[in-house]
Amino acid sequence: MRLRNIPGAKDEMNQNPNIVISNPSQHKGNWSKLFNNDHPIHVEVGTGKGQFLIGMSMLNPEINYIGIEKYESVLLRALERSKESEQENVKFLNEDVGNLLDFFAPGEIDRVFINFTDPWPKNRHEKRRLTYKGFLKLYEEILNPEGEIHFKTDNQGLFEYSLESFSRYGMSLHNVSLDLHKSGIEGNVMTEYEERFSRKGMRIYRCETKFSP
Ligand code: SAM
Repeated sequence: MRLRNIPGAKDEMNQNPNIVISNPSQHKGNWSKLFNNDHPIHVEVGTGKGQFLIGMSMLNPEINYIGIEKYESVLLRALERSKESEQENVKFLNEDVGNLLDFFAPGEIDRVFINFTDPWPKNRHEKRRLTYKGFLKLYEEILNPEGEIHFKTDNQGLFEYSLESFSRYGMSLHNVSLDLHKSGIEGNVMTEYEERFSRKGMRIYRCETKFSP
């Protein structure tokens, strides 16, 4: 998802430093202090326009959420939504997921969400997929030993690739669903892409995975 450049997007973020954190590496190891509590911290990589994360933050006030999105034109929408919702337990970073280790200390995060990440179907782009082993290494570092990754996608090819990637990395798989919306799952918060694809009748794949058994 890449929107046209929106003039003033960066200024808008700078004017809301309590929502879009401009210097995340300064908070490495100290995010609890920024949230002013010891609640678990969940991170969504490639958060897009923030619908999922803000929905989750409203449902779970006892959890802190951080969304990471590299395009400021996209994140601007998340910022607007966040201002409307007035949730204090959600923050955003206008950053690249590849730099995660600059932002979080080892074990500081309790869960990582990967939702409808770009599939990069060409083999030569494999390293860009957010479920590639290079990214798994980063998630492993920042997650606490019992931490989980929750993954959703509409893309069957990416789902198959990711299951293989998780299992080759030695991760354990849980609650695998090949048709999430028919699985009877409760409390599912839909992302923008999930809404768009499921409206078209496409099935949604989901799994949870951990570095521990
Ligand atoms: N998660 C949202 C959803 O489900 O509606 C957005 C899905 S969209 C297909 C993927 C988003 O991930 C895009 O906004 C893209 O800019 C972002 N993204 C992809 N790779 C990224 C990276 N390495 N760092 C930060 N954001 C990334």
